[in-house]
Amino acid sequence: MIIATGRRKRPNDFQLERSKIIGRENCPFCPGREDLTPPEILAFRQNGGAANGPGWELRVVPNKFPALQVEGTLDREGEGLFDRMNGIGAHEVVIETPDHQKTFGTMTEVEIERVLWAYRERVRDLKNDRRFRYILIFKNHGAPAGATLEHPHSQLIALPIVPDFVREEVDGARRHYQAKERCVFCDIIRQEVAAGRRVIHENAEVVALSPYAPRFPFETWLLPRSHGARFEEASRQQYEGLARMIKGVVTRMDRALESPSYNLIIHSEPFSEQATEFYHWHVELIPKLTRTAGFEWGTGLHINPTSPEEAAQALRSFGG
Ligand SMILES: [Zn+2]
Ligand SMILES: [Zn+2]
Ligand SMILES: [Zn+2]
Repeated sequence: MIIATGRRKRPNDFQLERSKIIGRENCPFCPGREDLTPPEILAFRQNGGAANGPGWELRVVPNKFPALQVEGTLDREGEGLFDRMNGIGAHEVVIETPDHQKTFGTMTEVEIERVLWAYRERVRDLKNDRRFRYILIFKNHGAPAGATLEHPHSQLIALPIVPDFVREEVDGARRHYQAKERCVFCDIIRQEVAAGRRVIHENAEVVALSPYAPRFPFETWLLPRSHGARFEEASRQQYEGLARMIKGVVTRMDRALESPSYNLIIHSEPFSEQATEFYHWHVELIPKLTRTAGFEWGTGLHINPTSPEEAAQALRSFGG
């Protein structure tokens, strides 16, 4: 758990408790309001406008309320994550598009691919800092998923430790490799594509599926077909294929589940690991579903629990 007492100072905290989200009127990420964010770290501009002014297609800025750069120190056991990290970290925000209203469902594939390239550039830069062992890349879409701003954005957090959930996944993959001499994710792709029941959609580069043992209803994994341990070392074709798949799967979720809030997380090999043979980067997409989701009203089916076969079937049927 990250203890970040500095975050208590956020001006919108009381609004957050009422599940509100900063909308267009007060949006610091809309074009023309560049002075409301710290100076940009990276920006894509077609027409050569000046830095920190309008005319951009995507910007990356430091998070004004970072989770890590805080005064807070210890958790109750006396040795918190922050303590172990000595406060080292970087927290950046990717402002994905100048258009306040867009989502991964309504952005073009080219726009989503641009976001992936921004992740890649930032990871490649941040990993030059040898203190960092892992970079979390994630997107919270919608207030129930933890977003505090409506404007489409995602986040990168560079950590001097490997988070437990990543460590566990890497260790599980290592055990599989030691037993079978194969990558567990490559095995999953081969088996699931052959069986078909949990496959949501496929393209030349990426397979989207409901995992065999999902932790959450409609949990979805996007797996690149060709083996690679690190997101930032993927090919142009893989980013193209992944962008197409993200748009396709979010569109299906928008239709099947009435535009749910969701968390999208990229899982990639920690810099400090020698896991290249057996770890396989991927994307996890987890919608935040409530009991009143439109899917239930519309179909009479109960979402929780939803088997992975039912989830895949529902998302397949809402394609194209
Ligand atoms: Zn905005
Ligand atoms: Zn693999
Ligand atoms: Zn994973």
